[in-house]
Order: sequence, then structure tokens, then C-alpha cells
Amino acid sequence: MSNVVRVAVTGAAGQVAYTLLPRLASGEVFGPNTKVILQLLEVPRSVFPKAMEGLEGVAMELEDCAFPTLQEIIVTDDENTAFNGVNYALLVGAAPRGPGMERKDLLMKNAQIFQKQGSALAAKAATGVRILVVGNPCNTNCLIAYRNGKDIPQNQWGAMTRLDHNRAVGALAKKAGVANEEVTNVTIWGNHSNTQYPDFTNAKIKGKPATEVITDRTWLETVYVPQCQERGKAIINKRGLSSAFSAANGALDHVKSLLKPTPAGDWTSAAVISNGEYGVPKGLVFGYPVRSDGQGNLSIVPGLSLDTFGKSKFDATLKELLEEQDAVKDLLPS
Ligand code: NDP
Repeated sequence: MSNVVRVAVTGAAGQVAYTLLPRLASGEVFGPNTKVILQLLEVPRSVFPKAMEGLEGVAMELEDCAFPTLQEIIVTDDENTAFNGVNYALLVGAAPRGPGMERKDLLMKNAQIFQKQGSALAAKAATGVRILVVGNPCNTNCLIAYRNGKDIPQNQWGAMTRLDHNRAVGALAKKAGVANEEVTNVTIWGNHSNTQYPDFTNAKIKGKPATEVITDRTWLETVYVPQCQERGKAIINKRGLSSAFSAANGALDHVKSLLKPTPAGDWTSAAVISNGEYGVPKGLVFGYPVRSDGQGNLSIVPGLSLDTFGKSKFDATLKELLEEQDAVKDLLPS
């Protein structure tokens, strides 16, 4: 074994991290010949005593798995330690919405967390680090971290729409009665929120336009789109808990996609920093169709068209992201 990869995970005592960490350590993502060093961040005991305590328990479980690919576990409440030399940073921890908290308060509370993390990443991470923001509101959290960590090139940052993408694929496959892998070219446009647009108009099923296989346009517009948009809430209503393992799976799929070229003719979804593609203002973290070169680089798929319905959904999610950006503008360095 010669390769070693350092992976930071924040919010490492949380639910999502609980299923993310063993899979990162097991060799599933980086392969059997790469040793993984996990650098796990939680909030200090002085802020929330149970977090570091819980994280120590998680680290004990990781030790007890005796994964041949797990070289070291670093447990810390200090960003600079957590991000020191990391090749990947999965920013999972975020402040949850408290009782009576307005959306703007939530954005501002998280903005402070991600401002600090962006600066620490720029100061400490390895050159070539790839960053994925999972903690919500993930697009705007990523925007804040990027703007405060601008020494890291913009194509190394992303926010997670991969769970939404997987949900959108699964729902089309179920409706069409086909295998999941027969659904391709799905896009989640915009925000990871209930304004996202799961684009069925450019999707394909067994190589044919999805709209030729599922001809019930009313179902697509009035059942499928809201179902994808509201899926997280529907799972909370059933389980009483958020969709943590599918979120962890989405994050792992995102990292795996960075490491493997996207199959010819297909694409996947990720929120990345816009260069103005599809009319999105430059600098916004927006969900796009993307292709990977397998070397850690995602590029936005050009030239897709949206119909009137799609355009209205695209505009709504763009508007929401612009409002989020406006809410945190005081924390965005120029
Ligand atoms: P989870 O592990 O369940 O969730 C973590 C983040 O992932 C949240 O922002 C959550 O958003 C998001 N998420 C959860 N499910 C999904 C999904 N299905 N799709 C997309 N995103 C999803 O939260 P916990 O409360 O269990 O754990 C969070 C941990 O983070 C806590 O231990 C806390 O102490 C820690 N934390 C750490 C920080 C740090 O490391 N500096 C800073 C802040 C918190 P949503 O809330 O919308 O579900």
C-alpha cells in the first residue's frame, strides 16, 4: 500500500456521518490499496458537551472495525487541525433550525460556521483538495466557505445535490418499471431545497427521452417534481428522523464520481460555482448537470434546453438562491 488520503469530515458525531464514516474507512471509495486518515471535527465541549463525547464513541467503533484501509483517526474540535493537509473535506456539520428561528437567522448562523471553515481550509488543506458541502443550506454554506477560502480554486468546491439526483433517478425508474441504471441524463437544477428542479425533460430511460416512456405529463409535473422536492420531509414524517443514510450515500456517490470518469453520453448532478452558465450570475453555487474527468474535475454540461415549465422552475430556484446570497451578503468578502 503506497497511497494515503486524508479526509476531513465535519459534524462527525451526527447521523449522516455515522453511516458515512465506516464506508469512507472501508476501502469502498478509495479502493483497497489506499490508506485513509480520517480527520473528524465536532463542536467544542464548551459549546455542546455531547458532540465531542459522541465523536469519541464513533472513533472507538471505527477502531473496532479494524479496517485494513484505515490508517489513523484524528478527533478534534479545531478546524485547523481537522483540515491540515486534507485531500477531501466533507462539510457535513451545520447548525439545525431552532424553534422559532427564521430562515435568515439560520443562514446567518451557518454563515459564521462556514466563514471560519473556508478560511481554515484555504490555510491548511492540501493543494488540490476537493470540498463537498452537505450541511444545509448547503449551496449558500458552500458560497460562504468559498468566498472566505478563495485561495482554493473554484472548481475544487461543490455542494451536494447528488441525493436529490439519486431520488429523481429512482422515482423515474420505479414509474417506468425499469432498473435504476436504465435512467440517465437526470439533472437537479438549482438549490438543494424544495425549489430544486428535477429535470425530466432532458432525462432518458433506456436511451429514449423519459417523456416518451412516461407519457403522463401531468404525473411528471404534478406528482414527480413535488415528490422529489419534498422527499426529505416525507421521510422525516415516516421515520421521525431525517434521511441520513441516503444523504451519506449521496455524498459518497459524489466523491466516487470525482474519482471516475462519467460514462459517455451521461451526466450527474452537483452544485458548483457558476461562471455564468445558463444565465446564472457568476459566483452563485448552483445545481447543474456535470461530467467528471475522473481526476477530480467536474465540468458543466452545456447546451441543454428547458421548456416553459422547466424554465419557470429554474427561475424559481435561481430566485431563492439569490435571496439566500443577499441574506448573507455582509459575510461575503469581495
Ligand atoms: P445530520 O447528520 O442528520 O445532518 C447533518 C447535515 O446534513 C445537516 O445540515 C442536514 O440538513 C444535512 N442533511 C441531513 N439529511 C440530509 C439529506 N437527506 N439530504 C441532504 N442533506 C441532509 O445532523 P445531526 O444533527 O445528527 O449532526 C450534525 C452534527 O454537526 C452535530 O453533531 C453537530 O454537533 C455538528 N456540527 C458540527 C460543526 C462543526 O464541525 N464545526 C458545526 C455545526 C454542527 P438538515 O438540517 O436540513 O436535515
